[in-house]
Amino acid sequence: MKKRVAVFGATGSIGRNTLDVIRKSCLEPVLFSSHFNEEELVKLGEEFPGALLVLTGRENTGAAIPFAGREGLRKAISSCGADIAVNGIAGSAGLYPSVWALEAGMDLALANKETVVMAGPLVLELAEKKGARILPVDSEHSAIFCLIQAHGVEKLEKVLLTASGGPFRNASLDEMKKIRAAEALAHPTWKMGPKISIDSATLANKGLEVIEAVRLFAVPPEMIEVVIHPQSVVHSMIRLKDGAVYAQLSNPDMRLPITEALFRPAMPPSPFGKLDFEDLHLDFGMPDPERFPMLPLAFKTSSLGGLYPSAYNAANEAAVAAFLEGRIGFLDIYPVVRYVVEREWDRELTSLELVFEGDAQARGLANAYIRERFQN
Ligand code: NDP
Ligand code: MG
Repeated sequence: MKKRVAVFGATGSIGRNTLDVIRKSCLEPVLFSSHFNEEELVKLGEEFPGALLVLTGRENTGAAIPFAGREGLRKAISSCGADIAVNGIAGSAGLYPSVWALEAGMDLALANKETVVMAGPLVLELAEKKGARILPVDSEHSAIFCLIQAHGVEKLEKVLLTASGGPFRNASLDEMKKIRAAEALAHPTWKMGPKISIDSATLANKGLEVIEAVRLFAVPPEMIEVVIHPQSVVHSMIRLKDGAVYAQLSNPDMRLPITEALFRPAMPPSPFGKLDFEDLHLDFGMPDPERFPMLPLAFKTSSLGGLYPSAYNAANEAAVAAFLEGRIGFLDIYPVVRYVVEREWDRELTSLELVFEGDAQARGLANAYIRERFQN
């Protein structure tokens, strides 16, 4: 029988890459969601007539789209009968859909890193209770997952998380002051949605990935080191206690980790092109904490645990939205997030309600600070 797949955020960057994988495979899509993109959703319904369609950003839709709003997504997830869900929703809005998919007993191919950053311990516990797997789609975590599986966690000494360094890897602080949204949106190696593109430019994306790795692989933050690697060909590495370093290499193409998550452990041959070694140059360096302070701040929140990572994420979402709207500058993102993270977030993660309360509080603080500090 064909594996049935639900795609949350089907109209985004991860969603479109997932559709490419589906079109070239024997998977059966059973659900597509989009927030506002009704036109593309209707087209997907015509291409895959059996799939349920959900428009999460509206409460009412026409006959072509039977499910609307968050509640519509919840209902569609529980009735679609998927074996696995790809969660490509952007931001904290992805957390509940992850939970609903796990509650329905589906495996979760997880691109939405916010799910793990905000509520890692709760979703891992739920997955275990339901006998469902959480399979990372984030390319670095997909690589680390494969490398740890291949070599065994008991031999692991260090996780070497690679980062492209973003478009401003070599920019001076003076140059960084003047960065506009359009420049920050142009990533050198990956084509992604707007929020993650800005996060890649500040290295907050790498910060979120450090937190994601700590919570997903149960390794302490001290076991993680970020290595700058501009070509994005080495997706991550691990160093074992005997000193050997193992790396996973492939073209920077999200369809590969998506395929990995959808098919693991029985990987089909890839139709997406092979790594070509002719003219291949691989460079490595270390991140500069002065120019990219969002990265050390993420390490700190990861060590503190509790709601700290969630506060970092929520404050960063608010600050990035303000930057994209031209309300604050590129270098103002960090002070906003630091202001919020310096508050008290030391609470045990006991429920999703608590996580969302903390999220709303952190966002409120960030927005109030932005208004006071930058818009008067
Ligand atoms: P995009 O912005 O390209 O796409 C987001 C998708 O989610 C769209 O389908 C959008 O619908 C939908 N959406 C937006 N807001 C909401 C909401 N409030 N509720 C429900 N659905 C919503 O994002 P990306 O694909 O770049 O990123 C998605 C996630 O994957 C993020 O967590 C990101 O960190 C992670 N990720 C992405 C990578 C990439 O290469 N892009 C790589 C690794 C991780 P609509 O089209 O209608 O707006
Ligand atoms: Mg990544």
